[in-house]
Amino acid sequence: MVRNGSPKTYLWCQSCRRSYSHADAPDVTCPVCASSLREMSRFAAIARGLMANELSGSPLETKHRQLIRLIWTRNGMGERYYRVLAPDMPYSRFEAQVTGLLARGADEGWVRFVLPPSPSADENAYRLEFADEERFVRELEELVTPVTSDA
Ligand SMILES: [Zn+2]
Repeated sequence: MVRNGSPKTYLWCQSCRRSYSHADAPDVTCPVCASSLREMSRFAAIARGLMANELSGSPLETKHRQLIRLIWTRNGMGERYYRVLAPDMPYSRFEAQVTGLLARGADEGWVRFVLPPSPSADENAYRLEFADEERFVRELEELVTPVTSDA
């Protein structure tokens, strides 16, 4: 399944409007949003990146998403969930999808992210709290259960 593309090409995510190197996305899946990536020339990727920056501007959203991912996968929790649930998808996609799920949970109020007031060396200061654990379990089950109608 793992494809090693030419180093002269980049992988483009249409939803995030940014490119990745093959090393950053070994399964040709966006590490942020889990969309399928499109291979394109370095020039095309740079040009598209420049155009996208004019449209979108700030990397804050991406950093915020990375922070959420780092918090929930801390101490090997990401791999642990993956092993226990054994979803039919590569780990990177699972990680991106759970990150998206938790982000939605925070929007909807069944998940809360707790951050220290300023950057801290104490990792426990960054944590995830469930206001509704049952909701999380239900959503997680939907996420890892194969959807057959979606082809
Ligand atoms: Zn993406």
